[in-house]
Amino acid sequence: MALQVDNIIETKGALILGAGVAGLFTALKLAPFPAVVLADTRPGVSGSSARAQGGIAASVGQGDSWQSHAADTVAAGAGLCDPAIAALVAREAPARIEDLVRYGASFDRRADGSLAVGREAAHSAARIVHVSGDRAGAEVTRALADRTQETPSVTLMEGFHAIELALRDGRVVGLFARVCDGPVRRLVLLRASCVILATGGLGALYAVSTNPPETRGEGLGMAARAGAVIADPEFVQFHPTAIAVDRDPAPLATEALRGEGSILVDEVGRRFMPAIHPLAELAPRDVVARAIHREIVAGHRVFLDCRQAVGAAFARAFPTVHAACREAGIDPAVQPIPVAPAAHYHMGGIAADTRGRSSLEGLWAVGECAATGLHGANRLASNSLLEALVFGARAAEDVRANVATRTVGGTVPAPTRYAAPPVPRALREAMTRHVGLERDALGLAEALRSIDRIERAGGHEPSLLNMTVAAKMVVAGALARRESRGGHYRSDYPRTDSVPVRTFMTLADADRIAAAPTADPKIRAAH
Ligand SMILES: Cc1cc2nc3c(=O)[nH]c(=O)nc-3n(C[C@H](O)[C@H](O)[C@H](O)COP(=O)(O)OP(=O)(O)OC[C@H]3O[C@@H](n4cnc5c(N)ncnc54)[C@H](O)[C@@H]3O)c2cc1C
Repeated sequence: MALQVDNIIETKGALILGAGVAGLFTALKLAPFPAVVLADTRPGVSGSSARAQGGIAASVGQGDSWQSHAADTVAAGAGLCDPAIAALVAREAPARIEDLVRYGASFDRRADGSLAVGREAAHSAARIVHVSGDRAGAEVTRALADRTQETPSVTLMEGFHAIELALRDGRVVGLFARVCDGPVRRLVLLRASCVILATGGLGALYAVSTNPPETRGEGLGMAARAGAVIADPEFVQFHPTAIAVDRDPAPLATEALRGEGSILVDEVGRRFMPAIHPLAELAPRDVVARAIHREIVAGHRVFLDCRQAVGAAFARAFPTVHAACREAGIDPAVQPIPVAPAAHYHMGGIAADTRGRSSLEGLWAVGECAATGLHGANRLASNSLLEALVFGARAAEDVRANVATRTVGGTVPAPTRYAAPPVPRALREAMTRHVGLERDALGLAEALRSIDRIERAGGHEPSLLNMTVAAKMVVAGALARRESRGGHYRSDYPRTDSVPVRTFMTLADADRIAAAPTADPKIRAAH
């Protein structure tokens, strides 16, 4: 169905969709090459970036090395990381932290002025740079937004909700977005030399998630609908310790609390992690998340007990977590914090190469919406902001070298914010119930039926289609992977295959899997 366009905006250089760390950093690295950063939310407080707590991994501490960082990344990825990408990212990490310092991010420092580094789960060294304890995301996003505002080559356009990529002869030449002009809803076509998607993850497609509502997989959905290859969509990471106080998004008890020595206990104070993994509470995220999930399914309540490890220092060391606990009437210095796993991070995404290029001409993808091969089946803590920085810089370099700017005229309207329709509740419930921490063929087939029903009921509303397509890619990837690995656990295929194989699929492939879920022998056996 052709879209009725009310307005055409010509942009001069790159059009970046998303104003989290990936989008803003890429725009700054592009300068003086012109860039428009378009987002439905306000730059500086946008996306998951502004909520990140732990910090950014980089081997800047004494005695640490990029080789050790790369090795930890590969070990966490359960056989699916691309070791060359892990090496590239770990090697470039310290330089990207220096960039952030230059852009005005004020990381915590030691008395001698060197960067203070913390330790997080599955890292073999202290290598997480942080800000005011747990405010890394808020501070870095603010610094980048301030800097982009002062950068003449960057234009920030807030309040636009993108719904579809614009294609000409198979090449991406811009995108369609909705915006409100006073009370009037308009559809605009933004034309650009190239489009860089920086739309974040898809956690908000799940009912229990740490992600804000704008991270609902729309960038991935748009790219898939345009024919782009999607990589590893089945791998969703669940944060083990969201604070279980019935809030959406669920506030987070950062991993760093376990790094400090906090322990997981049940309602009678029984510690259960040492019996499950030699690293106990510092085991990889998927192991900890599934252990908590199973305790809860078995009827227990689970708590993060920080009384011994952090105690009276809590408010100063972890102000964000402290505030979330206090709002819920919990004093974490003297009371254990109730926790549960929540959808947190998408390892999969738009397949992107070392320059951030997708499989479609004219389209780049950076940050959480991209899959570069860094995270494999399970992301190492604090590697995601880093991936956004490393590939943001690389995509910028590639665009500057290879994309021409255009001469443009016309004016940009000053919009009022367009409020996109929320994620359908039925979709969030289906994803949490059937595509969560433990999956099986029957549940995944049921998720596909729910997605189909939601799509039909919603007509061909593009924003809804972006979400259902993103969800369908996750389900199809999960159905096709008949093994358990990293963040993907199939209770009907609990073993891990001896040969690790990454998933690369288009929407056409996912549709074929969705059309014949009974191809799975476990479903055939159940009928
Ligand atoms: C609570 C929490 C804590 C975390 N802690 C850490 C941490 O300590 N370290 C770490 O490395 N990672 C952490 N992560 C993960 C990390 O924050 C994210 O992976 C990262 O911020 C993603 O950045 P991004 O720029 O790719 O996307 P985001 O920051 O999510 O930004 C996405 C942007 O795209 C825009 N957008 C999306 N769709 C549309 C559309 N259709 N139209 C217009 N605009 C659109 C959004 O408005 C937003 O501006 C955490 C995540 C969460 C939720």
